[in-house]
Amino acid sequence: MLRENTELKEEIRKVALLNAVQHDGKAQPGPIIGKLLGERQELRTQAKELTALINEILAEVNSLPVEEQKRIVTEKYPQVVEKKKVEEEKHLPPLPNADKYKQIVTRFSPNPDCVLHLGSARAILLSHEYARIYKGKFVLRFEDTDPKVKRPSLEFYDSIRGDLAWLGCKVDEEYIQSDRIPIYYEYAERLIGDGNAYVCTCVPDEFRKLTLLSQPCPCRNLPPEEHMERWRRMLDGSYKEGVAVLRVKTDLNHPNPAVRDWPAMRVIDSQKYPHPRVGSKYHAWPLYNLAAGLDDHLLGITHIIRGKEHLTNGVRQEFMYRHLGWEYPQAIHYGRLKITGAFLSKSKIVAGIRAGEFSGFDDPRLATFAALRKRGITPEAIKKMIVDVGPRPIDATLSWENLYSYNRKILDPTVNRYFFVAEPIKLKVKGIPKVFKAELPMHPEKPEKGTRQHIVTPQGENKEAFFFVTKKDAATMEAGKVVRLMELFNVQIESANADSPVALFTSESYEDVRKAKAQLIHWIPVGDECPCKVVMPDASVVEGVAESLCKQLKPSTVIQFERFGFVRIDNAEEKIVAYYAHK
Ligand SMILES: [Zn+2]
Repeated sequence: MLRENTELKEEIRKVALLNAVQHDGKAQPGPIIGKLLGERQELRTQAKELTALINEILAEVNSLPVEEQKRIVTEKYPQVVEKKKVEEEKHLPPLPNADKYKQIVTRFSPNPDCVLHLGSARAILLSHEYARIYKGKFVLRFEDTDPKVKRPSLEFYDSIRGDLAWLGCKVDEEYIQSDRIPIYYEYAERLIGDGNAYVCTCVPDEFRKLTLLSQPCPCRNLPPEEHMERWRRMLDGSYKEGVAVLRVKTDLNHPNPAVRDWPAMRVIDSQKYPHPRVGSKYHAWPLYNLAAGLDDHLLGITHIIRGKEHLTNGVRQEFMYRHLGWEYPQAIHYGRLKITGAFLSKSKIVAGIRAGEFSGFDDPRLATFAALRKRGITPEAIKKMIVDVGPRPIDATLSWENLYSYNRKILDPTVNRYFFVAEPIKLKVKGIPKVFKAELPMHPEKPEKGTRQHIVTPQGENKEAFFFVTKKDAATMEAGKVVRLMELFNVQIESANADSPVALFTSESYEDVRKAKAQLIHWIPVGDECPCKVVMPDASVVEGVAESLCKQLKPSTVIQFERFGFVRIDNAEEKIVAYYAHK
């Protein structure tokens, strides 16, 4: 009986092949039987016959070479292979109801009223990453319809585009809401005409009181023609700012009063508050839920990935979607991501820069992408951190140290090492028996990266040479103590004067001092240095000297100053200027 069911045989073959490629070419009968019985309850009465059939097909599948099994799977069941890949990649959970859509479209929608910072990383990177995983589209939408309070500024459109490019997020389509005002007007009129929106001229406090009692305001039940007339007055500027507001009808009994008849359009004195892109052209401006809600549908967004503070907005917008006969996109609300110690208030950042408190948007004290970039924090580290946190709805707290640890894992295996002597002190070493050529590896684990060399030539009858060492190392020196100048030789401190210490050459081999656990200190021969300053994350400056070789480093190169930390070279012209990333 079952033997004649070709559709069932084909299904068994498929399950067997998929199982085989997962088990080095040898499919296991147990999981296959389990899967089929789980999916097709009608087979349970014929388990014996089914097992016999499965064993037969399994024998045939298992006789094929693995390569052949893989070829068949990729050719016949590409969607299964693709789905598996999606699920495995980057540990991100699959998007809900992805199968419902021909193409996945996500968006990032910033207000260009400031540069972007770490607080936006999750919305950007998750939206972009999902679009890429599903071979979909990533839309950038500038939400710039508040020329008054969250006023956009022209410079930020470009800096946001630049930040996204730096993060590796390719924008497939870009929209600017201030270009789309006539579209919002068109839908506002449709909502008014259908009796689903009305122009309310009540004093806000009065309206609020009535709403709290689930009472309609006197405007709500006036005929649509009256509202259309009021709407025209909103458009032509006859209504002054604050006098009239367009509201979308919801349920006045909705348990959350903030959802009841939410404001969708308002009047702004555009002479007083011209928009940086469209000037004083419009009096009526869409509010967030109208513009974002309409655009999500009109731009074909399938999945909205946003913080859970938007949950109520979703509820508000769903009323508008119902009025328009639209289906709301899939919304994924992630929890709050707190980054301890990061300064993330956009208005305070802007105000601080205007007041001269910060040097600019890339001030190292800020958590803007511009500042992170300047410090040598890689976009890969930010991405890895965000993908690991994922779109979970629970709140998460990260620290700078978390980000640094991701970044360190990326930088440590690759970047070159150099010496930087902070607050340099001159150490005199006497009794150097010969000319020494120190070969310092560019990277301790990567000999193929080559070496940097320093030649130490003793001078005078004392056979002496001078080295820059850090003030901190000099302070720990004690007469009689042996220290090793890294990769060079061992010296014994003769005089530990903090400003001009003197030491005696003792021997060359590290073995001689390894057991005694002699301190290893870094150094630069006097005469082989170049001035260097490092700007720290708190904007303080550490002055010192670096190996002269560093002068050849191109701006934006990230290196490790040994025993100091990872830094990004900002400028290497006369004096090296570097920004500190982390230990
Ligand atoms: Zn009213």
